Amino acid sequence: MLKNKIIYEPFSDWRLTISKAQGSFLWDQVGNKFIDFTSGWNVTNLGWNHPELRKALIRQVKMNAYAPMWTSDPIQEQYANALVQSLPKGLCAIGRATSGTEANEEAIKVAKAYTGRRKMVGFARTYHGQSSFTLALGYLSEKDLRQDPMYQNFIQIEFPTITNEQQNEKELLKDFSEQLEGILCKSDVAAIITEAGIITGWGSARIAPKGFLQTIRKLTKKYGTILILDEVGTGFSRCGELYGMHLEGVIPDIVTFAKGSTNGAAVLGTMVTTKEIAEKSFEKATLISTFGWTPIACAVGLRTLQLHLELKLWERAAQEGSYLLKTLQATLNNDNRVTYIAGKGMIVGVHFTLSSGNPLVTKIVDQAQKIGLHLVCDQDATIQLMPPLTIPRSVLNKGIDIFTSVIKSTK
Ligand code: PMP
Repeated sequence: MLKNKIIYEPFSDWRLTISKAQGSFLWDQVGNKFIDFTSGWNVTNLGWNHPELRKALIRQVKMNAYAPMWTSDPIQEQYANALVQSLPKGLCAIGRATSGTEANEEAIKVAKAYTGRRKMVGFARTYHGQSSFTLALGYLSEKDLRQDPMYQNFIQIEFPTITNEQQNEKELLKDFSEQLEGILCKSDVAAIITEAGIITGWGSARIAPKGFLQTIRKLTKKYGTILILDEVGTGFSRCGELYGMHLEGVIPDIVTFAKGSTNGAAVLGTMVTTKEIAEKSFEKATLISTFGWTPIACAVGLRTLQLHLELKLWERAAQEGSYLLKTLQATLNNDNRVTYIAGKGMIVGVHFTLSSGNPLVTKIVDQAQKIGLHLVCDQDATIQLMPPLTIPRSVLNKGIDIFTSVIKSTK
């Protein structure tokens, strides 16, 4: 049932009206203070309302807020240069966008235009955006895909997931590799889209075996398929590297960004590809975005990137994330409702048994909220923890204490 005027399923029944947000804390309208373990779902990686970003925003507003597509503003050039410099050599041609959805939609269009192929491969139970095509990549069920002719060229495969320490990672990877080769070998797939070896966009934090990205890169090169890396959630230090592609030293043909790229202070989406792909596809791909890459968004994006580089925030994410993961594994290992806990950098998924499932997860999230910890959950039987990467250890510990005590006391 819709309880608010703004539709945003499954979150329409929101639990918190934010009256103030700063660093690792949120406050509601009656002054209750919450430790935040969501970062707005991998958006406010530098902490909420970072003062430097506020300054960058105001400075740009005073100069120029908008530049239509047949013009440019110097700050757009500056941001493009800085972003390209932060990426591996070759990724240098940018498509302007307003969101992760739009950036991924651009990536799909570019891949199709460049290869002249129509098929797309995605992983089941992943999220790449709310447009019809990005939903078809991983969010719609197999049944939905088969029922609508619009989606006949979309193929979904299972994401190879490590669920316990005893699993043979090499075997899992080998099976996956064989399955993918069986699909790509017909040389009619335009692109495969994936996150960087971890699913961040589904409320789950599922982790692939080591070598996942390298395997995809090898096979896509062999069969002329474009590799689209969706870094909307993994980008900007979240996973212990500035970008997820660095985790396995893989250079995709196309990478997309949004979320953490402005830390929530402005609307920005980005698609980056190579000069060669750009030159052969851009005219056909129709990359038109009225609000993509406004000067305001670029000013904030530039300062956000600079802060990540100045602070080397990915190192902190790796260190504190590993502490968070190990502490939770040690504290919750006797709880037989917890199937496994896995993470990469500062993103950790606590996976519950399907029989205890989503009602238990919702109860835990609600209970934690009552005693000062803000969590989010989606449809899976998982709680995905994504604290701001700047969170002090003392605050992290306090959040962990609330989280583990709530799990223990919730039946
Ligand atoms: N890709 C991933 C991995 C995401 O998590 C999301 C958003 N949850 C998107 C794409 C879509 O981004 P947006 O909501 O900015 O369109």
